[in-house]
Amino acid sequence: MGQPKKNEERICVVCGAIFYRAPSYTMKTCSKECAKISYTRSRTGQKWTAEARQRLSKKRGRPPQLLLGTEAAKASPLAGGYETNFRAQWWTLQSPEGIIHHVRNLSLFCRNTAPLYGSTAESMQTAVSAMKSWRRGRSKHKVESWKGWRLIEYEEVDDQWNGTSK
Ligand SMILES: [Zn+2]
Repeated sequence: MGQPKKNEERICVVCGAIFYRAPSYTMKTCSKECAKISYTRSRTGQKWTAEARQRLSKKRGRPPQLLLGTEAAKASPLAGGYETNFRAQWWTLQSPEGIIHHVRNLSLFCRNTAPLYGSTAESMQTAVSAMKSWRRGRSKHKVESWKGWRLIEYEEVDDQWNGTSK
């Protein structure tokens, strides 16, 4: 599945997945589902009054929305050695609505998603790890889902995926 050269490599600001778009295309998310999360998030962010945002941006030196972009930029292959620093790690998660998300950057995805479920990134990430531990038989504590989210599949550095394949 080769990508035409004219397309730029981008990193989804929601899940961290790599996707390809023509340079003229301004989309920052890999899929409709991620766009929805991004949209809900920005809409929630707009509960901020312009005044409060300005105050915060003065304090931090930039508006809050840009912080996420900075984090995504750090993970960008252009920002340095993304692929060479660590092997690709994928997580396939299913949302409560039944939508499949292929997540490349779990912590980024949790930061974007958990607040929409009234929780924290730490809590979501811990739950996903617990689901994985249980699936691998490394934990007797059965964790099957987190607020309706389920771990469908994962790939990691230190062992081969040996569960059910698609
Ligand atoms: Zn995405």
